[in-house]
Amino acid sequence: MLRKRVCFRGGSAAERRKVDFSLFFGLTLICDTAISHIRTMSPLSQSSRIRQRIARLVQQRESAERVILGRQELLKGTVTEVQRTCGKPGCKCTKGDKHVCYQLSASVEGRTRTRNVPRKELETVRRLTEDYRRFRQARAAWVQLNAQIIELINQLEIIRTIKSIPDEHRRKEG
Ligand SMILES: [Zn+2]
Repeated sequence: MLRKRVCFRGGSAAERRKVDFSLFFGLTLICDTAISHIRTMSPLSQSSRIRQRIARLVQQRESAERVILGRQELLKGTVTEVQRTCGKPGCKCTKGDKHVCYQLSASVEGRTRTRNVPRKELETVRRLTEDYRRFRQARAAWVQLNAQIIELINQLEIIRTIKSIPDEHRRKEG
């Protein structure tokens, strides 16, 4: 048998990295592609383990893609409650009962832009900004999952690649 047992190089940062997607879908999906225990297996079970891991990561990537490919509008920014005084003499706010309003703050080209959110639009604006955050989390998850998948594909390549021409081919040539 020419297919030699392949030893992995020390785990890369991507392999060791534990990605906590607790914010993503409100689930805690700990993706751990540490392969230290795989090293001791035979090449065949190594590769089947890697295939299983790739299949799991692909499923998670598809979940992220469903969010990314959604059609609803997104709004960048954070809604905050602001308490203000209006400056009118004798107003309730001068006695500590301040006016409450809501603002949307978002970074646009490196600058923080703030605008008022009318009370009747508060729920909609909140929902749109949450959708935006979900989109960004899904995007970040997609990037990380892809890096992990590529890492595993590289490992599979090492395992599946034989070192020289198999015996039966050489016999035919000779
Ligand atoms: Zn006032």
